[in-house]
Amino acid sequence: MNKGIYPGSFDPLTFGHIDMIERGAKMFDELIIGVAYNQQKKYCFTLEERIAMLKEECSHMKNIKIVAVRKLTVDFAKEHGVDVILRGLRAVTDFEYELQMASTNRKLDVNVETIFMMTNINYSFLSSSIVKEIASLNGDISKFVPPKVGEKLKIKFNQKN
Ligand code: ADP
Repeated sequence: MNKGIYPGSFDPLTFGHIDMIERGAKMFDELIIGVAYNQQKKYCFTLEERIAMLKEECSHMKNIKIVAVRKLTVDFAKEHGVDVILRGLRAVTDFEYELQMASTNRKLDVNVETIFMMTNINYSFLSSSIVKEIASLNGDISKFVPPKVGEKLKIKFNQKN
């Protein structure tokens, strides 16, 4: 079975992520969506909230599995028989970070390959951080995230204000 993992924070899930998942799912028998939990990082949504959003919005895809990843992606991949890490590239600005991550992962485990998919041009500007910034200023995020995610963002930022 040809398995891939698409790791990320999904904090929150955007249309850019969903597009990557839909396209990525066509490339593998099974695509695992690895929802990262890293104690060094500050998340807006809890791990459970981020997983719930993915489950809600990706239920139409049958060959994907959504799981929490609390360890190195390469270790998770090795344990679950996954050979490929899938990542997305938007602008040149993503390149340096992604090159560093892919090179480090290769050093950690030479058997796990990282492959990149170019962003859908409609979402090349879209990131979870920009969505949070707009939401925090009460802006319209309906073009960037599914309606239910938008609702959750509104609640989160009203709580903070
Ligand atoms: P991380 O904190 O691991 O970067 P993200 O949730 O921000 O997690 O992103 C996960 C992956 O999805 C990354 O490879 C990122 O480049 C990709 N990605 C995020 N937004 C988009 C988008 N709009 N188009 C294509 N890829 C994207």
